[in-house]
Amino acid sequence: MLVYHLPGTFETREAQLDLLWEAGATGLEERAGTIRVYFDDRADLAPEVSDGEWRQEADQDWLAEFKANLRPVHAGRVTIVPPWLTGEVPAGQVALIIEPGMAFGTGHHATTRMAVEALGELELSGRTVLDVGTGSGVLAIAAALLGAGHARGLDIDPITIPIAWENAEINGVPQGRVSFAEGSLGLDSDAPEPACDVLVANLYAELHDLLAGEYAVTLRPGGPLILTGILGSKLALVSEALEREGFSQLQVRQDGEWVLLTARA
Ligand code: SAM
Repeated sequence: MLVYHLPGTFETREAQLDLLWEAGATGLEERAGTIRVYFDDRADLAPEVSDGEWRQEADQDWLAEFKANLRPVHAGRVTIVPPWLTGEVPAGQVALIIEPGMAFGTGHHATTRMAVEALGELELSGRTVLDVGTGSGVLAIAAALLGAGHARGLDIDPITIPIAWENAEINGVPQGRVSFAEGSLGLDSDAPEPACDVLVANLYAELHDLLAGEYAVTLRPGGPLILTGILGSKLALVSEALEREGFSQLQVRQDGEWVLLTARA
């Protein structure tokens, strides 16, 4: 990567920046009193900007840097890790391995973390769990690892489905204990979902409001509902929708601006 280091800032060099673009610069960046000017090839520069220095620098691998900075996420009984950090899962914790990729749900978002934690507080043995908006499959896979008889993940984005299957495989969850399908509840579904014992959904407040009636139809009476993806400022919209649909025992937990709401059908 060829970078021309020019002393100054965008402000002090404002009148000269065009000279750099005209010379073939592909990008400009200001860092600590130096303007870094990116070029594909060395160029002849106008005298006004010739007081800098050409440097050949190592290419920066952003993906490698992102991966190197990932840390394990502790969510109650579960620790979520990328495949190369399984050695950092504390003894006694359930290890949930997620390959960071195109689908939402590495565990680093507060909503995912709170939902995994809430699943870990339930007795899931032998129960059926439905995860609406599964993304990477993280919540369905967590449920299966925590003992659910069957966990099913739905997502309207088809790109997520093979990713979720792959994550289930990395975690050694047998095919009979987990399944993923493109789809949703309500208007976005092709056919009604079978009744489930536990329903978890990390979506957003307006969608929970729209789907609240579907949650009530799909979740067996008394079954736990876990909803997140809700901004604190929009909590009332979701709690009113749940009360309207006959849910009870509403409880709220919060992490920063994000809220998780639990209730019983
Ligand atoms: N469950 C994962 C987690 O907790 O980290 C991913 C949650 S991500 C915030 C929301 C996911 O819901 C996305 O993958 C998105 O494609 C999906 N989604 C959005 N609208 C949906 C809908 N109406 N029905 C089903 N999935 C939906």
